[in-house]
Amino acid sequence: MRYQHVKNEDPALYEMMVKELHRQQSHLELIASENFVSEAVLDCMGSHLTNKYAEGLPGARYYGGCEFVDQIESLCIERACTLFGAEHANVQPHSGAQANTAVYFALLKPGDTVMGMSLDQGGHLTHGSKVNLSGKYYHFIPYGVDPKTERLDYDAMEKLVVENKPKLLVAGASAYPRIIDFERIAKICHENGTLLMVDMAHIAGLVAAGVHPSPVPYADIVTTTTHKTLRGPRGGLILCKEEFGKAIDKAIFPGTQGGPLMHTIAAKAVALKEAMGDDFKAYQHQIVKNATVLSDALSDKGFRIVSGGTDNHLMLVDVSAVGMTGRDADDTLGSVNITANKNTIPFDPQKPAIASGVRVGTPAVTTRGLIEADMQVIADAFEAALINHDLDLARSKVKSLTDKYPLYPDMI
Ligand SMILES: *Cc1c(COP(=O)(O)O)cnc(C)c1O
Repeated sequence: MRYQHVKNEDPALYEMMVKELHRQQSHLELIASENFVSEAVLDCMGSHLTNKYAEGLPGARYYGGCEFVDQIESLCIERACTLFGAEHANVQPHSGAQANTAVYFALLKPGDTVMGMSLDQGGHLTHGSKVNLSGKYYHFIPYGVDPKTERLDYDAMEKLVVENKPKLLVAGASAYPRIIDFERIAKICHENGTLLMVDMAHIAGLVAAGVHPSPVPYADIVTTTTHKTLRGPRGGLILCKEEFGKAIDKAIFPGTQGGPLMHTIAAKAVALKEAMGDDFKAYQHQIVKNATVLSDALSDKGFRIVSGGTDNHLMLVDVSAVGMTGRDADDTLGSVNITANKNTIPFDPQKPAIASGVRVGTPAVTTRGLIEADMQVIADAFEAALINHDLDLARSKVKSLTDKYPLYPDMI
C-alpha cells in the first residue's frame, strides 16, 4: 500500500492520484514517448534524496553534506558513460528540453545558424521552432524528408549544409519511424566545419540495447531524455566528447539550472543499471517487433503507414486513408481507452491542430508485457473504432488486453 501518508494528509489529492493510476491501468498507452518505470525507479523518485541541495558537480559542490549524493551522481555518470560508450556525461538536466537548451548555450551565440529537422516532419520544438527559445535566439534552417519516400533526404540536407555552413546541426526526431544514418550525417557535418548534436530522446533505449545504431561514436554531443524508451525517470542527460565536457557542465550549472534533483539522479542511476541487463535488451527487441507487427496489421486494415512501415518503436498512421482527421481519430481512440496523439504527417494538408496522422508507439504496452499476437488485437480495436465505428467492440478488445496484462497491480 503506497501513498498512505498522502491519503492521510491530503485526501483530495490522493483521490486524483488514484484516478490517474486507474486510468493508466485501464487504458492502452500508445503514446510513443511514454513508458512505465520500475518500482526501483519509483522508490528513488519518492525518496529523501529530494531534500539535498548539491549545486556543482561531485567533489566540487557549493553546499556541505554532499559526500553521499556525490557517490550517487558519480555512479550515475559512470553508468551513463559505460552504457553508451561516451567520454563525458552530465546527468543533471531536468528534462530533454533543458538538455538541448544547455547545449545551445554552451556552443552557440545568439543569431548563429543551426539546422534542425522541421517540426511538421518529425522534429522537436527545441530544434528551432519559432515558439521555442531555440527558434527565437538562433537562426534555425529546417531540413526534412523526401516527399516520395517520406524518409530523411540526406542529399538535400548536405546541400543545405554546404550552402549555409551552420555552426551546429541537430539530428534526431520525435516522430520519425526509420533508422537515422548518424554516420552519414556526421560526415556531412564534419566536411563542412559543422558541429553535430544528436538528440536521441525517443530512441535512447533502442540505442542502449543495440537495436538502433548509436550516434555516440559520430556526434560531438548527444542529448536524450531518460523517460521514453530508456524507461527511467522524467529527466534529461547529455553525453559528449571530453573536449566539450567543461563547457557543457558549465552550461547546465550555473548556465541554465540551479540545484540538481538528486532523487531523480538516483532514479536515473537505477534505470541505467536496468538498461545494462539482458532483460532490457530483450525488451527493446520486443518493442521493435511489436511496432513492425502493429504497423503491418494496421496497413492490412486499410490505414496508410507513413514511409511504408517502421524500423523503430513508432509509426505514423495516416488516418486520412480511412476518411478521418488526426484530431477526430485521437478523440475516438480516447473514447475507447486507447491513448495516442494526433500528429502531422510530412507535407500535411491539415493544420497542426487537426493533422492527418496519429503517432503510435509500442514502448509502454511492451513494458506491460504485450507481444506480437496482442498487436493484432490492437489493430482490430483500431478497425472497430475508426473504420466500423463500433465503439463497444473496440472497448472490449482494449479491456481484454488491459485485463490480461495488469499494471502496478499492488500499488494501492
Ligand atoms: C521528448 C523530446 C524532447 C523533450 O523532452 P522533455 O523532457 O519533454 O523536455 C526533446 N527532444 C526530442 C527529440 C524529444 O522527442
